[in-house]
Amino acid sequence: MKILHDYSLAELKTELEGLNLKMPRYRAEQIYKWLSDYKTFDEMTNLPLDLREMLKESYVDEPVKIEKELISKDGTRKYLLSLGDGNVVEGVLMNYKYGNTICISTQVGCRMGCAFCATGIDGLARNLTAGEMLGEVLAVNRHIGGTATDRKITNIVLMGCGEPLDNFDNVVKFIRLISAKEGFNLSQRSISLSTCGLADKIRELADEDLGITLTISLHASTDEQRKKIMNVAKAYSLKELFFAIKYYFEKTRRRIVFEYIELDLNTNPDDAVRLKELCKGISYHFNLIPINVTPNSPIENPALTPPSKEKQAAFWECLKEQGISATTRRTLGSDIAGACGQLRRSKINEEKK
Ligand code: SAH
Ligand code: SF4
Repeated sequence: MKILHDYSLAELKTELEGLNLKMPRYRAEQIYKWLSDYKTFDEMTNLPLDLREMLKESYVDEPVKIEKELISKDGTRKYLLSLGDGNVVEGVLMNYKYGNTICISTQVGCRMGCAFCATGIDGLARNLTAGEMLGEVLAVNRHIGGTATDRKITNIVLMGCGEPLDNFDNVVKFIRLISAKEGFNLSQRSISLSTCGLADKIRELADEDLGITLTISLHASTDEQRKKIMNVAKAYSLKELFFAIKYYFEKTRRRIVFEYIELDLNTNPDDAVRLKELCKGISYHFNLIPINVTPNSPIENPALTPPSKEKQAAFWECLKEQGISATTRRTLGSDIAGACGQLRRSKINEEKK
């Protein structure tokens, strides 16, 4: 079965023409509009019944279904989302003053194997298609009462399960689909993509000329530190990574955001000095993240020890001294398996019992 959300409007027109049903051309626009509202074939009331029945036989109208919703005390909602083949991924909806941000998944699992991350524990199962990523956004938008013309979701971060740049073509297609005028029409400026730092792909992304914000999971100020917690550091040095980041910045002029998990390992005064040096020549901001310990994680790594309160406060002063713009990320939804991959993990563990 083909997922209709994988198609752009132009592709949908070609697909429908190929069926030789002699239907008027405006049918494609009608269907596309319904799909953008995340309506099912049965709800597409301006289509003839026989056409709806025919579509049902060959195509999927709901590539993503909400299996479970957890609502945190702070209003954050976490979703367990199921795909057509029974795989599950996570989505998180965060409410800020300026609107609703959804964090979506790009892969089932991940093969980057970062030491702190619950998603990577079982490796990669498969990539999500562009239509499945679109389905994550549209399913939740509908669930909270939105449509494509009255959007309840105002921002998207690609920061759920998976490494977006390891699923490059589908992710780029998704960004083009979600920002298409005839579809959900969300500005690319409202989209952030977070990567563990696949330098080659960062360059390719820069060449796609998208208006999105690039977020880098940096988490270290030397290659030696980074290799202790992130396998990707063995493939790309910080020098190579920052070369690519600078290329992205020069092409797009968009401020780069760095994610930085505070550990005992990476919060010394020297780290602040090195970070300043690494970021020379770009406009940037640091999000400091307290490590979120994964319950029952099989991985124990001494490099993941958090800093003492005093050390953390001293690091904050060091960053200020260096003139590094930084904020500590609000830990939204920490009572509902807040960190990436932890809810999915708890479901996998449940099934193993
Ligand atoms: N693969 C991409 C995006 C998904 S991970 C990336 O790595 O950037 C989203 C963010 O959550 C990353 O910054 C990641 O480093 C962080 N993260 C993962 N597990 C975490 C944990 N246990 N505690 C704190 N942050 C975590
Ligand atoms: Fe993959 Fe990101 Fe998790 Fe690393 S932090 S294992 S890149 S999802």
